Amino acid sequence: MAQLRFEALKKLSERTRVHADLPSTNVSKFFGENVYGPEQMRATLAPALYKKVSQAIKNHEKIDEVTADAVASAAKAWAMAKGATHFTHWFQPMTGGTAEKHDSFFDALAGIERFKGSELVQQEPDASSFPSGGIRSTFEARGYTAWDPTSPMFVYGRTLCIPTVFVSYTGETLDTKAPLLKALKAVDLAATKVCQLFDKDIQHVVASLGAEQEYFVVDKALFDARPDLVMAGRTVFGHAPARGQQMEDHYFGSIPSRVYDFMKDFEIEAWKLGIPVRTRHNEVAPSQFEVAPLFEEVNVANDHNQLMMDVMGRVADRHNLRVLFHEKPFAGLNGSGKHNNWSLITDTGVNLYAPTSSARDNLMFLTFFVTTIKAVHSYGDLLRASIATAANDFRLGANEAPPAIMSVFIGSQMTAVLDELEKKGNVKIEKGDNMYMKLGIDQIPEIILDATDRNRTSPFAFTGNKFEFRAVGGSDNCAVAMTALNTIVAEQLDKFFAAVNKQIEKGEEKRLAIVNVLRDYIKESKDIRFEGDGYSDGWVEEAAKRKLGNVKNTPRALDAYLTKESLDLFEKHEVMSHKETEARVEIRQEAYMKRVQIEARVMGDLAMNHIVPTAIAYQTKLIENANGLKGLGVDNAAVVQTIREISGHIDTIKNGVRAMVEDRKRINKITDTHKRAVAYCDEIKEKYFDSIRDAVDKLELLVDNEDWPLVKYRELLFLR
Ligand code: ADP
Ligand code: MG
Repeated sequence: MAQLRFEALKKLSERTRVHADLPSTNVSKFFGENVYGPEQMRATLAPALYKKVSQAIKNHEKIDEVTADAVASAAKAWAMAKGATHFTHWFQPMTGGTAEKHDSFFDALAGIERFKGSELVQQEPDASSFPSGGIRSTFEARGYTAWDPTSPMFVYGRTLCIPTVFVSYTGETLDTKAPLLKALKAVDLAATKVCQLFDKDIQHVVASLGAEQEYFVVDKALFDARPDLVMAGRTVFGHAPARGQQMEDHYFGSIPSRVYDFMKDFEIEAWKLGIPVRTRHNEVAPSQFEVAPLFEEVNVANDHNQLMMDVMGRVADRHNLRVLFHEKPFAGLNGSGKHNNWSLITDTGVNLYAPTSSARDNLMFLTFFVTTIKAVHSYGDLLRASIATAANDFRLGANEAPPAIMSVFIGSQMTAVLDELEKKGNVKIEKGDNMYMKLGIDQIPEIILDATDRNRTSPFAFTGNKFEFRAVGGSDNCAVAMTALNTIVAEQLDKFFAAVNKQIEKGEEKRLAIVNVLRDYIKESKDIRFEGDGYSDGWVEEAAKRKLGNVKNTPRALDAYLTKESLDLFEKHEVMSHKETEARVEIRQEAYMKRVQIEARVMGDLAMNHIVPTAIAYQTKLIENANGLKGLGVDNAAVVQTIREISGHIDTIKNGVRAMVEDRKRINKITDTHKRAVAYCDEIKEKYFDSIRDAVDKLELLVDNEDWPLVKYRELLFLR
């Protein structure tokens, strides 16, 4: 029975390194060579057309048919020169990952290759199998994809990929990108308005994202020998290895050679696709790593992250490795997140979250800084909901995971600045005074967060010139979190703008009006600020006193989308209609339930068909042994004790799995999706998973290593 495991281990022992050559040590020579970006557009389009396209992109406008035709034709010629034979609309359905449907450039009827503007602008994938949360009734189960010109096309393999949004024929959005684009427009509008209080030259504000991607790497053969990894992306069983991450030696250790080869290889592929990967290093847990790109405009950065995950998977295959993006593939070890480093940058080049030496700019910085904190304070539950998935539940809010409480860390220097502003806010400013000096904001030093100040336990941390939303899950699409964050910040900026104007109308001087509103925000949002250890039990108690949300599971976290306040918020900023928000929640509840269902089935199957028979076979050997000892008159109490223990665990497993199946049958009859998801959480996952796992993991320690059917943690994590 343990055959698969030992075959996998044998394969592993025969692995050789796969080497990939850098096309040039000068990365700039091949960076973006497979991207049809602004430069390629400029080079291949007539100047007037190029100008039209770039203007439309910048101003969130529609591109007309003639222009689209020209772009399509130029892109086709460029792509064919790169060896492309097909094109596809590349989109991000709500089920996660990316989707595509390839069409050939070759038109057999006409006998030529062609690519029309209309094909660039719109395509009909067979969308009936993508979930729509009840938006589309089945008879009109159709949608179309529409070109997103703000993210460049690229050649991947032999296909020209066109980033697109996915929309139903009735106009509702069916993907993660469309609402994101709308949220980015909302934050652009709101932030620009606020910026113009300080600087009339600012016409646009662009949100930026740098997504640090954590992941595990395991050998392909070992992966394939673990049905739970294959089916659920995480190990549902597995006893902790003798050595986990307690030595904390992996983080600074050298990168293992096969993984290093893989990293170099996928970086080359990523660079060719214009993905600006920059940093690579080991993470805390054994076999855990991180890759970080240089930040870009949010929509492009997110497309790049999605594409990079795909590239990593394909390249890993060449190296006989598998990449795990799952938020918690291994119990007892750190999970994988996707830290979303985020900031707002003006079209004049000012990072609105970077303190400067200019007093005027600092007031602008403080405006954005404080307003963002206030936004998280007002909408913490929505942010929590934005990162809620079945997989992320194992990483946040679970037994061995940090709590799912949203809070903001800003560091001691910024705490001092805000304290000062709050205290001095009432200072009377006379004509001719230097207001900035009087308020203590004339000079905010460059924020250098030293090691002690880098609070790694905060889900939302200020890191000197950006905020880092760390609660986003490793396998997630950042668009969902980014849609929520940019919308709540847009809303808070709108409120700020209105409050300032109200004071100005009452005769208050503009800068003082700004400071007054900021001071109110600082006071009102104090509870969301937390500088201590976010992983401690003390914080859980303290947060409860502060009435901060600590919603431990997805089905309940998602409720935050359905309050009237949230529904109105998204609708007001034209990000999602009530119907769209509700449909999304429905889809995510359904996805949650299915994930738990799959895990429950995998668990049941592994336990009953692999573990229990193994344990019984081993137990039989022990029984023979015990009888033999008895026949010889030797004390067999220890063996009998082990036999009893094994029996106990087998009973636990069998009873657990049987009862779990019965509960599933009952729960599957619940028609309300929300109630069914909650039931899957409380009455399947919470009720059975731990006890079944515990019994299996105990058996792993009792049963002869030679007989154990599942690849063990120490093998998965330490052998490469
Ligand atoms: P850390 O010390 O947290 O690793 P880094 O400077 O290495 O910080 O940045 C981590 C990520 O944050 C990178 O992807 C980087 O490009 C991104 N980043 C840096 N500045 C900004 C910014 N202003 N806006 C968004 N992301 C940023
Ligand atoms: Mg970081």
